[in-house]
Amino acid sequence: MSLDFGNMSLDDQAPIVNDRSHSPDHSEEAEDPQPSLTGWIPERERLSASPDLRQSERNSNLELEGISDVSQQPQSETGPDQIPTLTSDADDADNADEDAAEAPDPGCQASDRGELVPDDREGVGMIPSVTRDVDLQELSDLVQIDDIKIAMEFVRGLESATLDDKEMRLDSEALERLRNPPQYQIEVPSSDLRLAVDLYLAVENASQDTYNAVRTAILRRYPESELLSYARTKNKIAQMSGITPLVHNMCINSCLAYTGPFATLETCPTCGESRYDQITLTNSNGKVKKPRQEFHSIPIGPQLQALWRHSDSAASIQYCDTRTAEIIDELERSDGLLDSYDDFFHGSEYLQAVNSGHIKPGDMILMFSMDGAQLYRNKLSDCWIGIWIIFNHSPDRRYKKVRVLPAFFVPGPNKPKNCDSYLYPSLHHLAALQKEGIRVWDASSNRMFTSTPFLALATADGPGMVYLNGLVGYHGKNGCRLYCGVTGRHKPGGAHYYPVLLKPHNYDVEGCDHDDIDPYGIAACSSERYYENLRQLLSSNNITQYKKRRLETGIAKPSIFIGLPRASTLGVPGCFGSDIMHLVALNLPDLLLSLWRGTIDCDKTDDRRTWDWAVLKGHLWKVHGEAVAATTPYLPGSFDRPPRNPAEKINSGYKAWEFLMYIYGLGPGLFYNILPQMYWENFCKLVYGIRIIHQHEIATCDLRQAHEALIGFVTEFEELYYQRRTDRIHFVRPVLHGVLHLAPEVTRVGPGLCASQWTIERTIGNLGEEIRQPSNPYANLSQRGLRRCQVNALKAIFPDLEPNEDGLPRGAIDIGNGYILLRAMQKNPKPMHPCEAGALRVYLQENGMSNGQWCPSVYRWARLRLPNGQIARSAWKEKLKPLSKVRMARNVKVYLYLNCIPVHLPLA
Ligand SMILES: [Zn+2]
Ligand SMILES: [Zn+2]
Repeated sequence: MSLDFGNMSLDDQAPIVNDRSHSPDHSEEAEDPQPSLTGWIPERERLSASPDLRQSERNSNLELEGISDVSQQPQSETGPDQIPTLTSDADDADNADEDAAEAPDPGCQASDRGELVPDDREGVGMIPSVTRDVDLQELSDLVQIDDIKIAMEFVRGLESATLDDKEMRLDSEALERLRNPPQYQIEVPSSDLRLAVDLYLAVENASQDTYNAVRTAILRRYPESELLSYARTKNKIAQMSGITPLVHNMCINSCLAYTGPFATLETCPTCGESRYDQITLTNSNGKVKKPRQEFHSIPIGPQLQALWRHSDSAASIQYCDTRTAEIIDELERSDGLLDSYDDFFHGSEYLQAVNSGHIKPGDMILMFSMDGAQLYRNKLSDCWIGIWIIFNHSPDRRYKKVRVLPAFFVPGPNKPKNCDSYLYPSLHHLAALQKEGIRVWDASSNRMFTSTPFLALATADGPGMVYLNGLVGYHGKNGCRLYCGVTGRHKPGGAHYYPVLLKPHNYDVEGCDHDDIDPYGIAACSSERYYENLRQLLSSNNITQYKKRRLETGIAKPSIFIGLPRASTLGVPGCFGSDIMHLVALNLPDLLLSLWRGTIDCDKTDDRRTWDWAVLKGHLWKVHGEAVAATTPYLPGSFDRPPRNPAEKINSGYKAWEFLMYIYGLGPGLFYNILPQMYWENFCKLVYGIRIIHQHEIATCDLRQAHEALIGFVTEFEELYYQRRTDRIHFVRPVLHGVLHLAPEVTRVGPGLCASQWTIERTIGNLGEEIRQPSNPYANLSQRGLRRCQVNALKAIFPDLEPNEDGLPRGAIDIGNGYILLRAMQKNPKPMHPCEAGALRVYLQENGMSNGQWCPSVYRWARLRLPNGQIARSAWKEKLKPLSKVRMARNVKVYLYLNCIPVHLPLA
């Protein structure tokens, strides 16, 4: 395997921010009038921190984007905290890519290679400045196809959005609060109100009846108290939080929402069902228009304002500003080189947006995430949920339930046919805020300022992503979610394209017969190329031409996100980040296991008997499964759910988290001597790379190694398994292409965990837990989501309502430096074993605290919480449990302690 890093910039650590004097050719960049808003660094210094575009262009792959594909992922896979009744939608066959791939490809000539492996690296790769304006009017004028016209109308609707738009139905009070927020902190409410609010929060997972029963009991004992009823408390909370939903009508069959170009329709153009209840309409002579179905969006503006309404909340939300200043400082001191990546703020895209003044202190950095959810097991997706994640919180806080803000809920029973119409209210409100700014009262400094929300990323899993980015999907010819330009190959007569790097032997399928693709030479996506291709697609004169161009460009429709102000997003396709969760935890394990178990499709011309890698069968598979389950006692409790026996459970909802531990944690050990050596070695390259990519903080030098290992894995995978055989093209699933993007994506938008789908999967799970009314779960889900927003806002406004996250459990003792002793604790001190006592005496002697003769007695503790939040357990209690109940924390490093023991002491 070559160790040459090609032109990957990871190799030489391309400076993200460079001194101006290093880029004389681009003095005009530095001399562009810089907006004076960026308050992190003084004007003079900021100019010197201007990115060296020339450098970035040369190191084109610095700008490669991440990818997540879903290929035949296991059904019903969900996040670790998912409850059984509400599962995330699994892979969904109904994709736009099916159409895109149906026609054989007449037009793709070998010239495509020029884009994929450009000879001249100059000018490739850099995502152009997000401010470059695109004339949306001009784009709209090109459109001939009706469906595309509608998509462009949504885009134009965002372009002209204002907070005053009647269609969004922000009531005058809400509008007034957005522009003139209250400038005072809410004090502790009166004792009765506080009791009501506490009670309301405490029954989160119970019903209204529970609240009322407790209220009745309290009133019986304290009849004089003025404890509010459930309904009144609910109203009071809604009022204090300032959060009211935007309610819009939708088709009873979920085809579309009556928003944007559909706003005035009275019949669904897709299924023909009427918008309003016909009986009410008739009985009232057409006067009473009662919608048959509604959906709720929760405007983000008031939720963002609430985050600044208390001095504690406001202080903690300024993490982003503090961290950004630190990073800029580090870059200036280190000549533009980063030691490591630990957050989105380390990504080159964010830093460039800061540097160009598009993000200023106090701006809110948002991630939007969407997913389908199943309310009942064994049903297709029947409900869609969108959420906002606020990057301004520190990473250890931002993904918690109380800080994840629901955006909208689309009730089922069917999948939306026009997703733009459902995204529209949320994005319209965002676009209006991005143009006008949100007025914010900062309680920590008692000042008003204008904050502009910046949409950093928009993510979904594979099937959901095509709704957001408007691309054809992973089996299209241009199947890459990151729009990197690599085109796939398909089997003769086949409909699906696969991102095969190596050209098959004796292969001449037209449009796919390009030479081998160099994985080091994959170009980064570019916004310019996207718009160029979009323009081409939009100007199609008829359906036939449209389909041909869709195939060639990989674009099915304009993304609604192009309607947002360009300076307030990472742009299209740059804002569509990767999804490390599905890629790493579901799609890769599924591919590897289907090969090793020999269950992947075998073409007629192939022969399973020749698959020497397919060893996990029969007895061996059974024994292997047992070995996986037998590791449970040895896994630290902090590792979440231990993997179950895959030989028994792999088809019954094996969770993403289980796959993660099974494949990347235990795999190298458990597959050793089972997989033939060369396949095992190839697999270990993957594990090595993924273990690095999956870190919260990734050292730059590790990242480079990870990239090398992952490219090695993919190229070798093709040689080992697919072997340039046309009948094995389907082995090279889209997920393998995604692996090539993983490391470069970290340099672009930070570690993949920052933007993974884990958060929305968990949100779907914990909202599901709150649903207790099976008679109408959809309406209830909306109500629960609204309640969540209001409660979260109220907790930001009045943090005292939230139990202290750092509170110590009963009986615990904080012994300093982040270590906390947790019960159980021995009632009486007991003498130590002689060897333990010896070690302690030596330690005390070394520190001048003992004369060496003392025979100590000690209190034993069961558990010790480490500074990283993990819990080490002591043998004292653990040894009392049967092996099946033990979760030994084998991975605790005790180097601090060992350092204190002189080397001559026996450690055994
Ligand atoms: Zn309909
Ligand atoms: Zn790609």
